Amino acid sequence: MTQKPALPWMQASIAKSEKALVAKYGEPQHARIQRGLKQVSEFWIDKDGDAAAFEDFVTASFAGDQATLDTMFNRFQDLLEKYNGHMQEIGREFRNQSDLDRGPILPFDDIFAGYDPSAHFSDDAFQNKMAFVVLLNFPLTTLDQRLTEGQTWTRRQWAEARLAQNFSKRIPADVSLAIGNASAESGKYIAEYNIWMHHLVNDKGERLFPAKMRLLSHWNLRDELKSDYADEKNGLAKQRAIQQVMERIVSQTIPAVVVDNPQVDWNPFANDVKAAAEKDSDFAPEAKTPVSNSPEPDTRYAMLLKTYKSVRLADPYSPTAPTHIARSFDEGRQIPEQRVRAILEQVVSSPQVAKVAALIQKRVGRPLEPFDVWYNGFRAKSKFSEAELDQIVSKKYPTPEAYRADIPNLLVKLGFPKERADYIAANIIVDPARGSGHALGSGMRETKVHLRTRVESTGMNYKGYNIAVHEMGHNVEQTLSLKDIDFYFLSGVPNTAFTEALAFVFQARDLELLGLSQADPQAEAMRTLNDFWGTYEIAGVALVDMGVWHWMYDHPNATPAELKAATMQIAKDVWNKYYAPVFHKKDVVLLAIYSHMIDSFLYLPDYPIGHMIAFQIEGQVNKSGKVGPEFERMVKVGNIAPDIWMKNATGQPVGPEALLQATEQALTVVQ
Ligand SMILES: [Zn+2]
Repeated sequence: MTQKPALPWMQASIAKSEKALVAKYGEPQHARIQRGLKQVSEFWIDKDGDAAAFEDFVTASFAGDQATLDTMFNRFQDLLEKYNGHMQEIGREFRNQSDLDRGPILPFDDIFAGYDPSAHFSDDAFQNKMAFVVLLNFPLTTLDQRLTEGQTWTRRQWAEARLAQNFSKRIPADVSLAIGNASAESGKYIAEYNIWMHHLVNDKGERLFPAKMRLLSHWNLRDELKSDYADEKNGLAKQRAIQQVMERIVSQTIPAVVVDNPQVDWNPFANDVKAAAEKDSDFAPEAKTPVSNSPEPDTRYAMLLKTYKSVRLADPYSPTAPTHIARSFDEGRQIPEQRVRAILEQVVSSPQVAKVAALIQKRVGRPLEPFDVWYNGFRAKSKFSEAELDQIVSKKYPTPEAYRADIPNLLVKLGFPKERADYIAANIIVDPARGSGHALGSGMRETKVHLRTRVESTGMNYKGYNIAVHEMGHNVEQTLSLKDIDFYFLSGVPNTAFTEALAFVFQARDLELLGLSQADPQAEAMRTLNDFWGTYEIAGVALVDMGVWHWMYDHPNATPAELKAATMQIAKDVWNKYYAPVFHKKDVVLLAIYSHMIDSFLYLPDYPIGHMIAFQIEGQVNKSGKVGPEFERMVKVGNIAPDIWMKNATGQPVGPEALLQATEQALTVVQ
């Protein structure tokens, strides 16, 4: 593994500078001086300068008294707000032609849309030593410190910790490039991994799936499996076939020639391959191997290994989170890995699993099969038809301007006091979106946030309105957690799961905002059971993802074949422990089918944690009755650790209790 080269003069220069600074500022500053010198030395490289340059820099840049430190902190706060805000503004303007409903996109518009003016900020800040000023004066912290000591920190201490976190890593350009390349290569492998479903044949040579159906693994395969619950005639046979395909992908016994190839027919049970007896597409992949069932040569695991080997290169340059696993949990989610594991295990081993499984078995009328982890039958019939809703919405909002004008009323209906509703609404600009809609925050207090919404020439339809209400939730959070926050470095929320949960609080009340009564306990209970079962499924997937990353770190020189064997074993272990007891079948590898596992760098634990956070926030808002004041109280605490945020919001840290309680309650409603 690569090591950051040590500088031979560094230890002597640290000792010399420490002495000089203590002499200048006195013993009370000693601990800060030692910390600052250590932090600077951890990131200083040859090209930053020699011993004399290091010593000159640290003596000149240390803020040795509180007044100077305050000035420094305030200046960084003001200037980085301006930097972030203006960079976001440029990015927003550069993407306007692509994002807004403004006529044709010309080829050069994509160049503007793809340009990120702040991409080199970190490199620049180390090169011009802005980063070293921060590292010399403010504390780098580990997640453990933020969670334990952070409980008693002042808001200013939290803000200082967030400021320093901006510079907690200095990843060399060639390492970033290697990670980018591994990400692109694995992403391309995943993006082209299609199965031509009409070419799946059973033992009798029958085709169950329609012509031209081309499904991307795993997303489309899973969604087809879900929709097959509605097919009374062939649904079960189709679902079994899809499960078989998924298992062959995981075990890499899938014949290489069948991947994205409509020119062969494949029986996934017997694993026979023949030249296609029917033609349903002109798609002709070049240079496919001869028609045989030779398996894919473990490419899936070679891709995963490449992503691991690339991110590992960043380890020596990230002292407070020195592995990708640590960066993923400590910096991304900000919840320690062992807590995430405990939370996930609490869900998959909860007593509600067996109860919901029994309910599903009753509803499908047969013993459960492994693919029923994707059961999607907890759906309530809507009280209003989509056409009825379209009519109501298009009349109310014929233009984006009509929606904008109504925002203060909508916020009052959600319980915001009139004066607060006007204040928030005045900060939201509504633009016509080219796509389905999105929300853009502002990054600095002097600019406004943007709500992009899709409005057809016939007016807004219900789908567009539902999305607009969701995005408006983002806009309200973006406004309050920036404009009303005490320290800029604390603006925002802890992570995207919180953003989405808060937006969902708005979205779930869209019918209420139209004046259509929504109280429907049956629908509410169905939604809860659907979420619970989805969380149960994805929690197991996340446990497999985590297990596989640990295995890779423990076996840095593994071959793709060894990684395949380990992944299958980990998937079976998780299945046997938490799924086999309700599915009554052992050694199933389905939990390893997710494509994110191959190209998304340990992303999967975000999903189950997101479900739980959504339940906690929704539960708290429901308890309090009015959305407005509760929403405002929650978001004003800003970007501190998730557990501390959640304790402030609900009295409890992030966890599954709210989801499990709601599930227990739902089981009394849906029988
Ligand atoms: Zn969203």
